[in-house]
Amino acid sequence: MTVASEKTKAWKRANSDWAREYEKLRKRRIHADPERRDKENETQRRYRESLTASQKEKYRKSMLARHRSRMLSDPDYKQRHRAQQKRATARRRGAVGVGEPIRRDLLYKRDRGICHICLRPAGAEWVMDHVIPIAAGGRHMWHNVAVAHRECNQRKGARQIHLF
Ligand SMILES: [Zn+2]
Repeated sequence: MTVASEKTKAWKRANSDWAREYEKLRKRRIHADPERRDKENETQRRYRESLTASQKEKYRKSMLARHRSRMLSDPDYKQRHRAQQKRATARRRGAVGVGEPIRRDLLYKRDRGICHICLRPAGAEWVMDHVIPIAAGGRHMWHNVAVAHRECNQRKGARQIHLF
């Protein structure tokens, strides 16, 4: 749900197979990186919030129509959809907080915009730092992320390379 220019849209229509593959690849790359995934989710959330009620309704209807036709015509899609629903149900029943997106705006508020490494205001260019790095077994979860300066985050990363 990115905002594409008319030129991009026309190109995508003319090269739909290739465009679809490319989009899949792009999404896979984003979702492999928890920080980029959260940023992407936030961008999309902001975009959704900016839509008017009638735009939302129009989008919902077109997505539903596409979903229905694919459920009928594409067995792979149907199978993927079923599996997705099973995972969603499992998430609702247990595993609270696992794989939950971390909202940058809420994190900034929680930490009052203070870098947890140098304890100075982190400013607008702050980054999400994993207190226990992912590489050291830390989880991408609310209690393991904190606001930091990019420089502090990089210095910390460099220091930790010597520790391992
Ligand atoms: Zn700092």
